[in-house]
Amino acid sequence: MAVQNNPHTTLITPAAPVATNTHGGRAKCLQRLVRLDMPVPRTVALSFETVQGIADGHVPDMARILEQFDPTALLCVRPSSEDPDWGGPGAVLNVGMNDARYVDISDTMGADAAAALYLRFVQTYALHVARLDPDVFDDVMDDGQQGLSETLHAYEAETDESFPQDPGEQLAAVLKSMARAWDGTTARLLRQAKGAPADAGLGLVVQEMIPGLGRGECGSGVMQLVNSTTGQPQITGRYLSQSQGRDALGAGTGALYLARDERGPSLEEVAPEAYAELQQHAELMRRKLREEMQVEFVIENGHAHILDGVRVTRSSRAAVQIAVRLAEDGIIPAQEALMRVDPHALNELLHRQVHPDASRDVLTTGIAASPGAATGQIVFTAAEAQASASRGEPCILVRRETSPEDVRGMHAAAAVLTEKGGMTSHAAVIGRGLGLPCIVGASGLRFVTKKRQLMTQDGRVFKTGDLLTIDGTSGQVLAGQPEMLEAALDDSFRTLMGWAEAECDIGIRANADTPADAQMAQNFNVQGIGLCRTEHMFFEPGRLTVMREMIFAQTPKGRAAVMERLLPIQRKDFVQLFRIMGGKPVCIRLFDPPLHEFLPTNRTGQRELAEALDIPVSDVERRVAAMSEYNPMLGLRGVRLGVTVPEIYDMQARAIFEATLEASEKGEPVVPEVMIPLVSACREVELVKTRIDAVAASVAAEQGRDFDYRLGVMVETPRACLRADEIAPHCAFLSFGTNDLTQMTYGLSRDDAGRFMSAYVNQGVFTEDPFHVLDTDGVGELLQLGVQRGRESQPGITLSVCGEHGGNPESIAFCRAAGFDYVSCSPFRVPVARLAAAQLAI
Ligand code: PEP
Ligand code: MG
Repeated sequence: MAVQNNPHTTLITPAAPVATNTHGGRAKCLQRLVRLDMPVPRTVALSFETVQGIADGHVPDMARILEQFDPTALLCVRPSSEDPDWGGPGAVLNVGMNDARYVDISDTMGADAAAALYLRFVQTYALHVARLDPDVFDDVMDDGQQGLSETLHAYEAETDESFPQDPGEQLAAVLKSMARAWDGTTARLLRQAKGAPADAGLGLVVQEMIPGLGRGECGSGVMQLVNSTTGQPQITGRYLSQSQGRDALGAGTGALYLARDERGPSLEEVAPEAYAELQQHAELMRRKLREEMQVEFVIENGHAHILDGVRVTRSSRAAVQIAVRLAEDGIIPAQEALMRVDPHALNELLHRQVHPDASRDVLTTGIAASPGAATGQIVFTAAEAQASASRGEPCILVRRETSPEDVRGMHAAAAVLTEKGGMTSHAAVIGRGLGLPCIVGASGLRFVTKKRQLMTQDGRVFKTGDLLTIDGTSGQVLAGQPEMLEAALDDSFRTLMGWAEAECDIGIRANADTPADAQMAQNFNVQGIGLCRTEHMFFEPGRLTVMREMIFAQTPKGRAAVMERLLPIQRKDFVQLFRIMGGKPVCIRLFDPPLHEFLPTNRTGQRELAEALDIPVSDVERRVAAMSEYNPMLGLRGVRLGVTVPEIYDMQARAIFEATLEASEKGEPVVPEVMIPLVSACREVELVKTRIDAVAASVAAEQGRDFDYRLGVMVETPRACLRADEIAPHCAFLSFGTNDLTQMTYGLSRDDAGRFMSAYVNQGVFTEDPFHVLDTDGVGELLQLGVQRGRESQPGITLSVCGEHGGNPESIAFCRAAGFDYVSCSPFRVPVARLAAAQLAI
């Protein structure tokens, strides 16, 4: 056959040399359908090379293509790019339609059908091939025989030419316009945004048309075997009698359901045989193409023809369902199912989401700091949030930024919105820990908190009580209450997680500060707690006051008295954590933040504290002022506090060891991990270690029982990375805190960077927010140095990453390659991290 002999235009037969990387995905899929003996109309595939040649002006001999088809048939041309997501020009139907065929078809199928076929072709040709302005047809009827003749006249008037009648000329012009459209700048940018390489090719398929119009039951439609939103098995799709292409999808009430449906008539009732044939084809396609496919079909006088099969579009939850069921049905192996789910997309399953079809009134977009969506009434203070929660009314806590005082309000709120902050600011870290939707750095809104108002740039004002929706997955702040989709931690999700766990070759722990966090982490079956930020345990109202008393104590004796009160509180927390974790490792970080963070910042809070301590408010003001630092994140925090106010660490170590003995009495023996934060000098470790060892010895002596514990250092200053060889011999483990390490490596405040981060990312200064995705070049080099130097001087030391990057798939790839033993992230990010790690191991 002529075309088969031509290397660039190939008739699709089971044996024809058609490949995805030379002819595109659609051509390859059609060949698979042909191999399955499906009723696919005759199709010729044009390779990437041929199409590029056409774009460059080398149009092949049309007669050689046309001779492959029935001379009375009309043709359709469709794009076939390597990846269907890269798009391509729209399909052109009914190529070959002209005045003579109009007469023939009128005789066989009726004048209306002939006019509809011709009109569709003229309209598409005029706009996409001749590139006429759509206005040209404004005053023209758009259907029927009258519409056809008016459209042909308008075409001729505009182009000064009659509509081309020669099918070869028509086909050449269609192919050329489609080839050139692919080369256009907009198309290029669009597909490159979806990951297509700059030289991505386009193939085209030319297929004989089965018209879908005419006598008997004729029409077109699509069928799939699953619901695209839920992923559950369900025959869905639409069918429209007397229609072509994908008309059925846009047809509204005129279209039929496929399977019997109480909402209206169905194809199953109208054409039961064709329906049964289609169902069989769809099932075969699923099994043999190893994917849920949408079948594009035409019914011709009661019989089904398959025009195409495309991968079913799917929500994230549907992607999980589909992958797991394909594996459970033995169609794909479990490993492949794991590879088919995007780890980032799991966020959508773990939290409520704005429904993908809901309309969105977007007020601004901030930094998507904690995923999930929630609607509630605006409140501007933690107290209002608590009041709202006690009335059972969901609320959105709106703050310029949050501080420890707001934590109780965050617990009470459905979501949090702040003007300032970045991925590792207070609101973001707490929000992720609580699984609370959170947007930070929403500087596109004006936060007039004194007046209790939120203003948009175009002057809309939102007040206390107004409804707001926070979409922490996209970062969009929305007015009102869009429809939501609930979280879906169903059996498929659990199955997928089980498979992922079996594949992972890097450990996954959770950052968990409270028993609730630890329970959540256990629900995701983590390997332990990688970071318990103990300061978060003091944010509850009763405890905050004791903490403040400790800070205000003037003498070591006074301080010791308050420590006595803090000790049982901490011990109880740790016993609970150890019990929940059932013998799995728990890494407890000693107190880290600057003390002043615990002090009240406003007058009301200061007055309350003065009352509680029975001292004049002026004393409170003075102490607060005295403790303020110009740059608290680089000030008296972490181990610096441990060295200068050692009673705090002594108390915490005692609480940990007493809890260890208490929890080991009944359950698994506990081996606590104690971690020293913000180390920059080896001597800091020596000083703290000496005291902690002493506390351990005295607890063991007092109780007459021995226990093991592991002491480690949090490596989160550049100097600690560089001096890891000196630090490691004192430690059982090093855990790299990439939040502070990023902050200090860039000299970029984690609390303030949100203000300019989007400008920096938009202008390409940073490819990504480095607090979100690890900067593998700079921060990564420090990590590598730390790993190498630490391991060299202390072989067998455990190495981990516990910054927020531990839950980010791209960063996990780096951590695994760098040889870390485990990563630790917020509990809700554990599934994302586990799937990402499994994919790396497969
Ligand atoms: C870090 O700095 O990476 C870290 C985990 O600690 P925090 O976020 O509490 O400073
Ligand atoms: Mg830190």
